[in-house]
Amino acid sequence: MKKHWSQRIRDMIPYVPGEQPRDRQFIKLNTNENPYPPSPKALEALRAAAGDSLRLYPDPECTELRAAIAAAHGLSPEQVFPGNGSDEVLAFCFQAFFDPDRPVRFADITYTFYAVYASYFGLTPELVPLAEDFTLPVADLLAPGCGGVVLANPNAPTGLAVKLADIRRILEAHRDQVVLVDEAYIDFGGASADVLVPEYDNLVVVRTLSKGHALAGLRVGYALAQPDLIAALRCVRDSINSYTVDRAAQAAAAASLRDAAYFQERTAQVVRTRQRTALALRDMGFAVTDSQANFLFVRHPQVPAKTLLDGLRERGILVRWFDRPRIRDYLRITVGTDGEMDALTAALKELTEV
Ligand code: PMP
Repeated sequence: MKKHWSQRIRDMIPYVPGEQPRDRQFIKLNTNENPYPPSPKALEALRAAAGDSLRLYPDPECTELRAAIAAAHGLSPEQVFPGNGSDEVLAFCFQAFFDPDRPVRFADITYTFYAVYASYFGLTPELVPLAEDFTLPVADLLAPGCGGVVLANPNAPTGLAVKLADIRRILEAHRDQVVLVDEAYIDFGGASADVLVPEYDNLVVVRTLSKGHALAGLRVGYALAQPDLIAALRCVRDSINSYTVDRAAQAAAAASLRDAAYFQERTAQVVRTRQRTALALRDMGFAVTDSQANFLFVRHPQVPAKTLLDGLRERGILVRWFDRPRIRDYLRITVGTDGEMDALTAALKELTEV
C-alpha cells in the first residue's frame, strides 16, 4: 500500500487527537475543551454572519478580528496573525522560522504536535529532558547551538507554568533565534509573554480561542509578534491558502474577545473547579501536579493509569492517557463542571479503593 504516497509522507507518524465520541453520551474530560458554552455575544455574531454574505470570500486581512485581538493584548494589529486554530499557527511558525541545518529545541515531555511538525517539515528536534518533577530545566534551554526554541506555557500535559523571568532569560540567550511560546492554556494560570512582544524581535506568542473562550469547534488561534515575524507567517499562509479563517469564525472570535466579562467569569469558574478537584484527588492519595491549566495531571501510587482509564470509560467518563516514556503512570483529566468532577472523583474512589 501507500502506492501513490509522496516520499515526504510515506514514513510520517501523524498526531492523534483525543476521541470525539458519537455513539454515546460520555462525560468528556479528554480533550481540554471548556465545559461551558461560548459567549452569547459570540453566538449572536455567528448567527449574524451565517447569511447571504457567505457567498463572498472572507476578509483575508481579518481586519476586525485582528483589531479585537490587538485590543485584548494592548498590541497593534500589525503584531497579530490569526489562523485556523493554534495548531495551524504553530505549523506555520515551524515553517516560517526554523531551518533543517540547526535543531529545534523543546522539552521531552510537551505537546506532541511539536515533534510531528518537526518531522513533517524535515527539521531535527533537540529534546531537553524535564526534571524528575516535570519542571523545565531552564538553564538547559540556554545553551547556544539550536535553531529555535519551542515552549508550551503552561506545559501540556503537566500543566506546569514557567515564570516570565525565565522566558526572558531564554529570549536573551537566543537573540538570533525565534522562541515560540505556546500559550494554549494561559487563560487558566501563569503569566503571558504577550507583554514582552514589543521588547523582543525573536518572540512569537501563540494563543487559541479553543480553551478559555470555549470555541474549539470554531478553529481560531493567533500569533503575537513583531511585524517582521508576522510578515513571515503571512508569507507561509499566502503560499498555501489565503483564507484560513472563515467569515463566521472571524466575526464570532472577535465578539468573544470583546466580551471580556463573560470570559473572565467562566475561566475563573474552571480554575475554582480545578483547585477543588485537585484537593479531592490528593485526599484520595493521588499525586497531582500543580497545574495552571484547565486539566489535571495525576498518578495513583498503586493502580496503573491504563486500568483507571478503562474503568472510567466503563463508567461513562473519558480522560486521556499517553502511552509514552515517563508519563505512562499518569492520566490527564480535563476540568469540567463541578458536577462532572464530582462524578469523576466518585468513579476514581471506586476504582482505587481496595
Ligand atoms: N497547543 C497546545 C499545548 C495544545 O494542547 C493544543 C490543543 N490540543 C493546541 C496548541 C491546539 O489548539 P487549537 O488548534 O484548538 O487552537
